[in-house]
Amino acid sequence: MRNAALPISIRQLSKSYGRVRVLDDVALDIRSGEFLTLLGPSGSGKTTLLMMLAGFVRPDQGIIRFGDADIVRLPPHKRDVGMVFQNYALFPHMDVGANVAFPLRLRNVPRDEAESRVERALELVRLGGFARRRVDQLSGGQRQRVALARAVVFEPRILLMDEPLSALDKQLREHMQIELRQLHERLGMTTVYVTHDQREALTMSDRIAVIDGGRIQQIDAPRSIYERPANRFVAEFIGESTFVPVIAQAGSCAIGPARLRLPDGTPDGAMLMMVRPERLRPLAGPPAADEYTLEGNVAETVYQGDSMLLRVALSGGAIVAVRLGGGARMPHPGDAIRLALRAGDFHLLPSDAA
Ligand code: ADP
Ligand code: MG
Repeated sequence: MRNAALPISIRQLSKSYGRVRVLDDVALDIRSGEFLTLLGPSGSGKTTLLMMLAGFVRPDQGIIRFGDADIVRLPPHKRDVGMVFQNYALFPHMDVGANVAFPLRLRNVPRDEAESRVERALELVRLGGFARRRVDQLSGGQRQRVALARAVVFEPRILLMDEPLSALDKQLREHMQIELRQLHERLGMTTVYVTHDQREALTMSDRIAVIDGGRIQQIDAPRSIYERPANRFVAEFIGESTFVPVIAQAGSCAIGPARLRLPDGTPDGAMLMMVRPERLRPLAGPPAADEYTLEGNVAETVYQGDSMLLRVALSGGAIVAVRLGGGARMPHPGDAIRLALRAGDFHLLPSDAA
């Protein structure tokens, strides 16, 4: 059960409802066999974009290619696309086998062949032997597996999933994330996965396309998105971050008494220095040769079980978040603190004021 995957190419895709521009000049290339996640807040246009790939929403303008073919005018059933929705969308009056067989019936697959393909698809999602069960006897996780089996049973070359795990509790969701990823590795189809959950996106994806307000903000591998966000929106939406306003001058900037060297080619002027809380380390002794020392006072402490979060007011005025391991000693509000920062631990963004 492995089929040639297809690349997807999207250009100048736009859609408005009334005066609201829901998708604004979207361009996106999804590689053949890639697991790409569309990540963005509620209302950012994720479902609209996925529905356009599936053929349920017609764009106002733009091009969508599967391989070499422009498919914008093709109806959904001619697009060779499997789809999994958030709410399962199973037929409650049919048993599991009939639900999974449905796309094969639409395609007039002979009954014997359909039966063996249904059983194979069910085995793939670890529901072998479940064909005669009723849908309403299944748990949420099992229902979502049935929906997945139905989406892949006709061996589509593209698989679309819209927040398929959001109805499941945390433990099952994390388990299913790994299962979906493994299924993708076995089947190899081009997959577009929608979620608003940044950790899910980081866990599952080959690449992430971050979308906000109907515009793609950044497309990159999870690690690049996390470590080198393109703008403040991406930096804040993914992971925790704090921003220190700095003035770059002749390749360096001051934070309190510390003077930090900036990457070659940094232009003079106001910038935002982004620092992830886990990259700041409280210093007991002197800093290492490659570390800068930032001075400040603890403003707030939060105990979170596996870790602790501090807010530190730096001399110079900025407030930064610092994450400590769960075993670390908890400082007190008001304590003086010194923090170590390496050159590779910060990332510069254009200043908001610019
Ligand atoms: P997401 O899936 O990221 O939450 P959607 O694509 O569902 O976002 O919606 C994006 C925006 O488009 C929202 O403001 C939503 O209210 C609006 N929208 C979506 N579908 C319709 C529709 N059929 N009619 C009017 N507005 C819509
Ligand atoms: Mg949605």
